[in-house]
Amino acid sequence: MVLQSVEFENVSDLSRLIEVGSWIYMRLGPLETAIWDLIGRREGKPIYKLLGGGRKRVKVYASMGRLLDVDEASKLIDKYIDMGIELVKIRLRRARIEDDLNFARALAKKYSGDIDFAADANQAWGVHEPYWSRFDALKVAEELYSLGFVWLEEPLYKEDLDGLRWLRDRVDIKIAFGELEHGLSRFKVMVEKGLCDIIQSDVVYGNGYSEAVRIASLAEVYGLEYLPHAWDPGLGWLHNLHLAASQPKGLTRYIETPLDPEWWFDTIFSITDEKPEINEGYVELPDKPGIGVEIDFDKLKKFMV
Ligand SMILES: [Mg+2]
Repeated sequence: MVLQSVEFENVSDLSRLIEVGSWIYMRLGPLETAIWDLIGRREGKPIYKLLGGGRKRVKVYASMGRLLDVDEASKLIDKYIDMGIELVKIRLRRARIEDDLNFARALAKKYSGDIDFAADANQAWGVHEPYWSRFDALKVAEELYSLGFVWLEEPLYKEDLDGLRWLRDRVDIKIAFGELEHGLSRFKVMVEKGLCDIIQSDVVYGNGYSEAVRIASLAEVYGLEYLPHAWDPGLGWLHNLHLAASQPKGLTRYIETPLDPEWWFDTIFSITDEKPEINEGYVELPDKPGIGVEIDFDKLKKFMV
């Protein structure tokens, strides 16, 4: 997905992609979550119950992945409102920041009172131009706050921790961060330095459930929110749903749900016996053991390389 969306003009672009790839892969999450699935099947319990969770459903926020124009986005947002969804996250990374802001202004005006907005700039990845400076991030953050946006996500490159602190000292909008991070010590630094308001570690991108529940507790102790990133390949979204359902509502209010492009969610669940439905803004947890769905290995074959 990243390879398709990045045009390489020089070696430094490629090296950024390889560097960020090395951060995402070679982690314990994919293996650790599979082990929890096996334990759940052996114990006859869904993973979220093994983790001590009791929430039967979790509120969805719609996560949009493309840079659309206002008309295209509106068609989708109208559907989200009909689905009972109360918050949608848009993408910002257009070539001109003013175009991002015009898009945000138009949606905020059109949907005032109907649905809330958050924005994801994806700057932590460092593979999507334009690369925002601290002053770019400050300009966007101030404007989004004035438009009533709930949070701004990844406004700066993942290594600019001092920049995040600089930004957070100057803005009122919540800053969300952490989808590329892993390791308890890294999150300890993030919370102790006061780099963000919403922690977004992903159970699969990170080191699995065992670590993620500790990160969630860390967020709780420091009075932050914990909203796991869930734009995952494979069934990672479902693992993050189990994680969310194991946490208190006040800490983990939503599960991120990729609904744009529309084929994404359908494709993920095309290898299973069922696709979770969104009703009145919520998704229900599967009550089967483990991850809660069965993989159809014949259907999986078409994705093998
Ligand atoms: Mg994100």
